[in-house]
Amino acid sequence: MISKLKKISLGNWMIIGMILGFITGLLLNFYLKDPFIKDIILINNVFYLGGNGFIKLMKMLVVPLVFFSIVVGVASISDIKKIGKIGGRTILIYLLTTGIAVTIALLIAGIIKPGEGLNMVAIVKTNITTNITATDTVLSIIPDNPFNALANGDMLPVIIFGVIIGVILAKLREETKLVNDFFTQSNTVMMEMTRIIMKFAPIGIFCLMAKTFASLGFEGLIPLTKYVICVLIGLAIQAFVVYPSLLVILTRLNPIRFFKKFISVMFFAFSSSTSNATIPLNIEKLTELGVSREVSSFTIPLGATINMDGTAIMQGCAVMFASQAYGMDLGTSALLTVIFTAVMASIGTAGVPSVGLITLNMVFNSVGLPVEAIGIIMGIDHLLDMFRTAVNVTGDAICTIIVSFKNKAIDLDIFNGKKEAQDTWD
Ligand code: ASP
Repeated sequence: MISKLKKISLGNWMIIGMILGFITGLLLNFYLKDPFIKDIILINNVFYLGGNGFIKLMKMLVVPLVFFSIVVGVASISDIKKIGKIGGRTILIYLLTTGIAVTIALLIAGIIKPGEGLNMVAIVKTNITTNITATDTVLSIIPDNPFNALANGDMLPVIIFGVIIGVILAKLREETKLVNDFFTQSNTVMMEMTRIIMKFAPIGIFCLMAKTFASLGFEGLIPLTKYVICVLIGLAIQAFVVYPSLLVILTRLNPIRFFKKFISVMFFAFSSSTSNATIPLNIEKLTELGVSREVSSFTIPLGATINMDGTAIMQGCAVMFASQAYGMDLGTSALLTVIFTAVMASIGTAGVPSVGLITLNMVFNSVGLPVEAIGIIMGIDHLLDMFRTAVNVTGDAICTIIVSFKNKAIDLDIFNGKKEAQDTWD
């Protein structure tokens, strides 16, 4: 029995935690009428402790995880000069597709309004500030004191500071090898810490779901379902409308040929929920599509680190969901802040399971949304993580094909099936 339980993967434990939490919450809401046990003991103590304890652990990860991951990610693009134009073009297209992704998410969630009808103020009381102007946002990116920014968790200055350190490390190379190693190993430590903390996710999810549904009852299910639908529609549009359109407009290549070959990579990303683990297969399939390995072996690992269009879609929908649930109207400058921060968060999201949920904290913070709202969507996040990872890796591949095309590093005969791919380019 125990050995059978041990075989259940963490992802499945999260789903089990979600279902059990949901049922427990509903049962409490319907059958337990004693307010002392229900509200005081269970909701406000047991579930509150388990759920918010887990959220706090996740919050603890945000600043160091994003900071080290950015420094290491940027510092590793040492080949940017060697690859010349490809580096700049790739980064530009990566940022552009992520910007499009989060905008689509905001539009869809603005139409479907998943958070409406969910009276979150009843669960969490908080002060919401929305009067952030565009100029304030631009100025706030420049860290006047990076250590203050790190201590206060001001993510944009932290990211800018991380990028600057990364660029300098990439430039100085051997001269600063020790510092480079320090950042690389610190990043490894944070990844391991994330892995350990994520082991508690099933318990955290159970408590958060139970707490939410014990308060809201069945009514809470409708907004959550709408949220899932928003994210899935956003992901489908990005994968099957935006990417094919970009491919056709910028390269005139046939998207169906691409998807026929690439579908197996999407399935692998879906089942593993990690862009990082998908890197070798992604490069392999792109080679079979005629893309030069010299390009893909640079752009795909880079994409797995900084390009997360699917994650950005989830984050855009989550922001709208929470703002609607709290009855908070996000103005234009707040929405622009969300787009900008989600693009930055995509850079700071490591390509491993669930990290998008951690960097979601920084997107919420950027517009003053209470991060406790993340607790509600956390329960179903594992499922969405699978779908969004499939989109993340597709984005990396499409951008790589576009960049290869522009740099004449794709054999069009191979792409069009007129010639067999060789293992190596040249
Ligand atoms: N699982 C995603 C990836 O590896 C990241 C995330 O959104 O959590 O691409």
